[in-house]
Amino acid sequence: MKEVRVRFAPSPTGFLHIGGLRTALYNYLFAHKKGGKFILRIEDTDRTRFVEGAIENLIESLNWAGITHDEGVFSEGGKIVQKGDFGPYIQSERLDIYRKYVDELIEKGKAYYCFCSKERLDNLREEQRIKGQVPKYDGFCRGISTDEAKNRIAAGEEYVVRLKLPRNENIEFHDAVRGKVVINSDEMDDQVLMKSDGFPTYHLAVVVDDHLMGITHVVRGEEWLPSTPKHVYLYQAFGWEAPEFVHLPTVLNKDRKKLSKRQGDVSVEDFREKGYLPEGMINYLALVGWSPEDGEEILSLDEMIDKFSFERVGKSGGIFDVEKLNWVNAHYIKEYPTEKIAELSIPSMVESGLMTEEEIKADWDRYVYMVETVKESLNRVNEVPEKVDFLFGDLEITEEDALEQVKSENMSVLIEAFEAELNQVEEVDAEFAKTVMKRIQKQTGIKGKGLYMPVRAAMTGNVHGPELSNIIEILGKQNLLNRLESARKYM
Ligand code: GLU
Repeated sequence: MKEVRVRFAPSPTGFLHIGGLRTALYNYLFAHKKGGKFILRIEDTDRTRFVEGAIENLIESLNWAGITHDEGVFSEGGKIVQKGDFGPYIQSERLDIYRKYVDELIEKGKAYYCFCSKERLDNLREEQRIKGQVPKYDGFCRGISTDEAKNRIAAGEEYVVRLKLPRNENIEFHDAVRGKVVINSDEMDDQVLMKSDGFPTYHLAVVVDDHLMGITHVVRGEEWLPSTPKHVYLYQAFGWEAPEFVHLPTVLNKDRKKLSKRQGDVSVEDFREKGYLPEGMINYLALVGWSPEDGEEILSLDEMIDKFSFERVGKSGGIFDVEKLNWVNAHYIKEYPTEKIAELSIPSMVESGLMTEEEIKADWDRYVYMVETVKESLNRVNEVPEKVDFLFGDLEITEEDALEQVKSENMSVLIEAFEAELNQVEEVDAEFAKTVMKRIQKQTGIKGKGLYMPVRAAMTGNVHGPELSNIIEILGKQNLLNRLESARKYM
């Protein structure tokens, strides 16, 4: 059997959309499942949309997500390099190749030169719009002979090259998600293959490259499905075998609309900056449009590879649900070493103003312990500041339930007992923190909720929260004394 070769072929227009990351992921999973190769190609033939630094950014996002490729374009030490036997893998470096294949199509009578001015095309489109027709090229230049066209080109006329579609012919292909797709060529446009600037259009470049690079499966977003018949016809025109097509359902928001930048986060970078972990992001994205047969939702990359198949990719759009993403991400946060989460949380902590980087570093063990204390409650790494906020500054009790606890009859006895305990030690250590409540219970005879709730409220201003002994240890003697004193004001 032929070696499976798949590619992710983004255009460097700025950032990696999470829908793009999912496309890359499915390509990656399929390649690994089949022991094949995964290629990264850069489709930069639309020079008007090119953004400086976008290639580096794309690769950086893929690397962050752990979606590695075997061949194509890489970034090494801040430099773009290309590796593999089928290069170049950046389309703007392949212009000669496209030129050669366009000439071949013209020779075979499968493409033609078109000299229509922009003005003529605009008028045509306007006329069609008024008549309620689908805008489409009317074939005005189809009849111009190659010789005449060459003379006009020699005389300096501007031109493009168009695909010469057959009239009234069914074009058919099989899509692994959609099944059989048939479209009549009369419903299609004589697509421009080469623009007047000598650059190929996406349609020509994608077919030539997928063929020359030995791509066996084209796995891409379903927005390209309407273009595929043109590609299929191009394969026929060249006399090449077409690859398998797999069109993935669009990633939608909860209103079933395409996820767009205007509504918020869409780029991999956005999610990274918010404190999602690559494992959480990838695991969740895999489930947007695909599910394993056993219904398992927490999956490592290896498990995904093991269970992946295109048969289980849905036809309808995959809904991107941030709550579910949070749930998946929370799972990976719990699994990560706390030190790592602590490290990742530094920028957000600094930004929150609660601690400076120097303070964090100077008291690293305490910081890690603090993160450990709230780890269970995190959906995102960047939630660390809001979760530990209560451990900083003066005590302020605003919560109804906490106020009620502080006003309970046991409060003053408990505060006194706690203060007495604190005054007996130089410092609060782990041992003290773990045992102090038991001693207070013994001394006061107060136990259970009647003991823990008021103490917690007096210390944190809340009746719920992480392990009380952790809080006692983190706050330390002086903070605890201050807070107990402050709590008296609410009694
Ligand atoms: N360059 C196209 C894009 O930006 C790739 C389409 C394809 O995979 O064929 O999505």
